[in-house]
Amino acid sequence: MRYSGFRVIREALSGHKGWTPAWREPDPKPHYDIVIIGGGGHGLATAHYLAKVYKQKNIAVIEKGWIGGGNVGRNTTIIRSNYLLDGNEPFYEFSLKLWEGLEQDLNYNAMVSQRGIMNLIHSDAQRDAFVRRGNAMILNGADAEYLDEVQIRAEYPFLKFDDQRFPIKGGLAQRRGGTVRHDAVAWGYARSADSHGVDIIQNCEVTGFKIEYGVCKGIETSRGFIGAGRVGCAVAGNSGRLMGMAGMRLPIESHVLQAFVSEGLKPILPGVITFGAGHFYVSQSDKGGLVFGGDLDGYNSYAQRGNLPVVEDVCEGGMAIMPMIGRARLLRMWGGIMDMSMDGSPYIDKTHIEGLYFNGGWCYGGFKATPASGYTFAHLLAKDEPHETATAYRLDRYKTGHMIDEKGQGNQPNLH
Ligand SMILES: Cc1cc2nc3c(=O)[nH]c(=O)nc-3n(C[C@H](O)[C@H](O)[C@H](O)COP(=O)(O)OP(=O)(O)OC[C@H]3O[C@@H](n4cnc5c(N)ncnc54)[C@H](O)[C@@H]3O)c2cc1C
Repeated sequence: MRYSGFRVIREALSGHKGWTPAWREPDPKPHYDIVIIGGGGHGLATAHYLAKVYKQKNIAVIEKGWIGGGNVGRNTTIIRSNYLLDGNEPFYEFSLKLWEGLEQDLNYNAMVSQRGIMNLIHSDAQRDAFVRRGNAMILNGADAEYLDEVQIRAEYPFLKFDDQRFPIKGGLAQRRGGTVRHDAVAWGYARSADSHGVDIIQNCEVTGFKIEYGVCKGIETSRGFIGAGRVGCAVAGNSGRLMGMAGMRLPIESHVLQAFVSEGLKPILPGVITFGAGHFYVSQSDKGGLVFGGDLDGYNSYAQRGNLPVVEDVCEGGMAIMPMIGRARLLRMWGGIMDMSMDGSPYIDKTHIEGLYFNGGWCYGGFKATPASGYTFAHLLAKDEPHETATAYRLDRYKTGHMIDEKGQGNQPNLH
């Protein structure tokens, strides 16, 4: 079914009896040409591009819970392409371009809102670093704009400009960045993949791999064995657990990241603000809630909830930069499991097992990557070679000395 304004009016006039389910609930077949494990944003996007762009057939997405129940429905919805390094910037800019055409591609309203993102600057050294980043972005075809204090005061007069520790001296803005309604991304990709013949199988947990003589032949699941020509794994925070079933130990640690939303307020925040020095970032949802977050909880965990010290830390950050936030009541908070890589950058690669492919290590930046991750993983699965924007995301890059360490923190996953 095609969605349109005309369809909404027609259904409104006929008692809304004509809507059909957005995707089917098929039983698993004994064998697929391609199986994607993980019905998060990345798995569903991979299935969509495999079917639509790479014209592959006989594909299934296997999800242990329900689609959208993982990080794709838990993140703070920010999209941007403000990266510095060559391995990353072309990939994230490719992703931002795909976001710009996503709703037309999927025929689905994902509420893509290019309301802009601004990283605050507090010192001369930070200004140098951000200006360098902005130049790298522009060289890669992205947009970047340096704002001085006066310009920021005009746009965000309510920020605390004269903080003793972190006075605001400027900002790096990316006007094409913004937010997207996260669960609509999962639903939109699912609906489109389904309409191209992909089987989306929910409530089906992968419990093992069938590997014979170094070749992956299929997967064991809670609903029986499913044979597969190729298997792509995209399970984000559960990457270590899943790939452990194939005997692999990944350069990934799992950590909790929390997010928070306040009660609905009148429109106050025009765009996304990040206060990196104070570990705080915030935007305002279309419903009016202030959506904000900060740092990881800092210990390894597979729990989808966090602890109080980080709540306190994030709220302190908010009060330091935007004291008026103290007047808003906190409505909800939740956590997601982050697949933190050693250098803060992801992996989209073949494994040493033939027919088994891996996508993960997204840290807390994988939502904005969803379209490009799906596109490039689909490319790898369809053609058995990396897409041109994802050539750096190799699993063996630590051995060859090609780390992609945006933050310059070294091999310390909880610092990226
Ligand atoms: C609080 C928070 C805030 C964030 N904010 C941002 C942000 O503002 N911008 C940004 O770019 N990124 C953000 N992120 C990161 C982003 O959400 C993730 O990197 C991204 O969503 C991960 O990819 P995914 O959507 O495929 O993961 P998921 O949605 O987690 O998908 C993985 C799926 O695999 C399934 N699965 C796991 N194991 C199995 C198994 N054995 N068998 C079958 N299925 C299995 C899971 O149930 C899950 O549905 C944030 C994350 C969190 C938690």
